Amino acid sequence: MSVLLGCIADDFTGATDLASFLVQSGMRTVQLIGTPTDFVDLSNVDAVVIALKSRTLPSQQAIAQSIEALEWLKVLNCEQYYFKYCSTFDSTAKGNIGPVTDALLDNLQENFTVLCPSLPVNGRTVYKGNLFVNDELLSESGMRNHPLTPMKDANLMRVMASQSSGDVGLVPFEVVSQGAKNVKKALLELAKMHRYAVVDALSNDDLHTIGEACANLKLLTGGSGLSVGLAKNFVDKGLFEIRHNSAQLSNVKGDVVVLSGSCSVMTQKQVARFKESFLSMKISPLDLKSGKSSVANALAWFEKNRNVGALMFYATDTPENIRFAQEQLGAREASELIENFMAELVSSLDERGVTKFIVAGGETSGAVVKALNPKMLKIGSSIAPGVPLAEMVGDSPKLVALKSGNFGDELFFEKALEVMQ
Ligand code: ADP
Repeated sequence: MSVLLGCIADDFTGATDLASFLVQSGMRTVQLIGTPTDFVDLSNVDAVVIALKSRTLPSQQAIAQSIEALEWLKVLNCEQYYFKYCSTFDSTAKGNIGPVTDALLDNLQENFTVLCPSLPVNGRTVYKGNLFVNDELLSESGMRNHPLTPMKDANLMRVMASQSSGDVGLVPFEVVSQGAKNVKKALLELAKMHRYAVVDALSNDDLHTIGEACANLKLLTGGSGLSVGLAKNFVDKGLFEIRHNSAQLSNVKGDVVVLSGSCSVMTQKQVARFKESFLSMKISPLDLKSGKSSVANALAWFEKNRNVGALMFYATDTPENIRFAQEQLGAREASELIENFMAELVSSLDERGVTKFIVAGGETSGAVVKALNPKMLKIGSSIAPGVPLAEMVGDSPKLVALKSGNFGDELFFEKALEVMQ
């Protein structure tokens, strides 16, 4: 049986988030890091998510990368394609959600698709075309100050119209609440005059309704939430059976290491909690710069303690200490020192037989995955919403849990450890 759903995600942890939802809906899912250049064995795979890093690239580059990914997926002859972006519609005035969706539609020779970033489980809802983050409009939430993609307008019709070609309509909540048939009718009507339809969604049930109504659209766009109803569509078309063991990964033996480069509030709590029960080594950019800390020291410490149990290396620090390091070194160099350290350390740990890595931080995860260079990630069961256990498929299998910033609760590292053992 062939791959049914071909997805393109505009960043790495967003791809993992979508893959995790697909697995929960019963689809066997793999995540690819960029568009592959070599052969990838996709037997027994129902959905593929290609993770790009295109969210804040210049639009032309984002389009080129996305079309390259789509062309690769089209060879698989997928039943449906999915462009995944952030549930807070992260984009600049120029894109890239608009320009990339325009290009994907053109390439597929399609005229119409939906925009559905809603993810109620994480507090993102859309009402009358306006995006809310918990109780606040997007434009009044912390997203208005985002350093790369400040979101100053919550009205998605306006935002999309300003960065894409074609008119943007709305399927309002009143229609969504009347069920899939009515949503489908509304979409058919809108498609006569519009290229895009923002669809209101306040609950998970709404996402199932919208998913059902979109069964025959070739391209879907949204956050990870819109994916929840798609497996059932494939079942209804007789193409697929829900896989209750869709999350099955290899049984991997070996040591576990925690690597934390995130400084988010939640990660600080997780690090503090984990330190109470496990040995850890703190890394700071200033110590790396002065030579007081090094990969060689870290490896010596690891060899001395590896028999004690899981070990943690962490750069996680308070905002005051981070600011101090950034003042001394510059923000970019401080980050690079930590990320290069994590990448080099992880390669050496891999050589020493460590097979399980729990990683905190989106950028940190990117650096670790790049260093380990897997062919693909096979997605397993969920450890926390949006954070699955995953298997790196390559020369030798490894298990990873890759967590961005504020994901997971205080016991996340312990939970990840438990599911890995
Ligand atoms: P998050 O997902 O929480 O944003 P990231 O890994 O994406 O985490 O980003 C955290 C960034 O902060 C990384 O680039 C990391 O190298 C950097 N960093 C981590 N610890 C420190 C520190 N002690 N001082 C300065 N920068 C740090």
